[in-house]
Amino acid sequence: MNNPSAIAENIKKIRGNIFAAAAQSGRNGEDVLLVAASKTQPVALIRQAIDNGITAIGENRAQELLEKNAEKAYVGASIHFLGHLQSNKVNKLVGICDIIETVSSKKLLELIGRRASFLGITQNVLIEINIGKEPQKSGILPEEVDEMLDFASNLKCVNILGMMAIPPFYENSVINRACFDSMYKLFVDISAKKYDNVSMRMLSMGMSDSYAEAIRAGANVVRIGTAIFGER
Ligand SMILES: *Cc1c(COP(=O)(O)O)cnc(C)c1O
Repeated sequence: MNNPSAIAENIKKIRGNIFAAAAQSGRNGEDVLLVAASKTQPVALIRQAIDNGITAIGENRAQELLEKNAEKAYVGASIHFLGHLQSNKVNKLVGICDIIETVSSKKLLELIGRRASFLGITQNVLIEINIGKEPQKSGILPEEVDEMLDFASNLKCVNILGMMAIPPFYENSVINRACFDSMYKLFVDISAKKYDNVSMRMLSMGMSDSYAEAIRAGANVVRIGTAIFGER
C-alpha cells in the first residue's frame, strides 16, 4: 500500500473504533495506547504513521528494529519490542526500546536488569502471558506470574509496567473473548498486590482483527499492523 492518504485514513478509522470500544466499557479512548506493529514495513510508511499521530511503534525482529532505528524510522514515537525475545538479543534491545513487551522468563528479566544496570538506566518491560496455554507459544502461565513478579522485585534497573498476551487465533471469538477476560482478571488481581519494581499499568492485547473486543475486555494497549499498513 503506497497511497499516503490510506495510512492516515486507516489510523483515523481505528481511533474512532478505539474510542467507541473504550466508551462501551466505560473508559476514555485517550487512555488506550495504539502501538503500530510495523514488522516488514519500510521506514517511509512508518514515518507516515508517525506523521499521522502514531506515538508508539512495535517491532518483532531485533535486527530489523536496529536497522530501521539507525535510519531514524521511529523518531517522535516510543519503541516497543513485540517479538520472540532471545537472550542473545537482550543487550542490543535494552536502552533502545522504551518497552520490551515480551519478557517470558526470570532468566530474561535478569539479563535485562544486568544490561540496564551496566548502561545506568531502568528498562521498562511487560510480562508476556501464555493465556491460551499453548505449548508452541512463549509466555509464562498465569499461575507463574506471582513468582515472576517476586523475582523482579529483587532486581535492579527493571521496571515491570504490565502484561501482554497473544491469545490463540480462533475463528471462534467466544474463546478469544474468554482469554481477554482472563487476562483482565489476572491484571486486576496482580494490580491489587504490591511488589517493588512493578506498577501494573499496561494490559497489552488485541490486534487488527480483535482490538475492539480486547478493549471492551479491559485492554489499554493494542498492537495493530495490518489495519494500519495493509496486508504484509
Ligand atoms: C504483527 C503483530 C501484531 C499486529 O498484528 P496485525 O494482525 O497485523 O494487526 C500484534 N502483536 C504482535 C505480537 C505481532 O507480532
